[in-house]
Amino acid sequence: MKKFAIFGDIHGNLEALQAVLYDAAQKGCTDYACLGDIVGYNANPAECVQIIRELNCPTVQGNHDEEASSLNDLSGMNPTATAALAWTRNQLSEDDKTWLRQLRKVRSVPPFTIVHSSLDQPGFWNYILNKFDALSNFPSQFTQLCFHGHTHVPKFFVFHAGQVEELIQYEIIMEPDKKYFINAGSVGQPRDGIPYASYATFTPSENRITIERVPYDIATTQAKILAAGLPDRLAARLEQGR
Ligand code: ZN
Repeated sequence: MKKFAIFGDIHGNLEALQAVLYDAAQKGCTDYACLGDIVGYNANPAECVQIIRELNCPTVQGNHDEEASSLNDLSGMNPTATAALAWTRNQLSEDDKTWLRQLRKVRSVPPFTIVHSSLDQPGFWNYILNKFDALSNFPSQFTQLCFHGHTHVPKFFVFHAGQVEELIQYEIIMEPDKKYFINAGSVGQPRDGIPYASYATFTPSENRITIERVPYDIATTQAKILAAGLPDRLAARLEQGR
């Protein structure tokens, strides 16, 4: 039976990524898809890129992947993200940067679609925080189901009869005549107040989508952040899930 693990916003958190991939294998996942932001914030960007490259799964580019692999001036981002991206650029090989740069922003993974932010303007990196933001996505969503990330908050947006419903729950069974735009949350830096790594599983034969939460060794990730000289706040926020 085909079962997908859909995950993103890893942000260089190796311990969280390993825990999620182990959990997905335990749960019988047969296929993988990555929602981008493999790098940025945490201390193992190169290791995380290597794992995703070896997994060889459909992967879309996130804003941190774009910035870390470019020569752009970083002044447009907040100071913490800027410090982490400047550090991250020095950790990645030219080959990894080339790989991050060639990633597309939208991909079809039949029977669904993946994007880091939203389908209407994927390169603008809009934050889909609520049902009003989500409304602009749906005219560009040509599959019943699309997964995204970027806000680091797992959430279901359901479009039906011209309206969007916003659901915070752990499981949904898709119904015909409705479209689903689903945020899988973040592997490496959850921001919904729950520090566990977040990803989604999708079982097509059951139309079932589940948000999975996985504990991981936060203390090790924090120690690496501090040892690397990255901003302290990046370590502190992991245990708060903020
Ligand atoms: Zn992110």
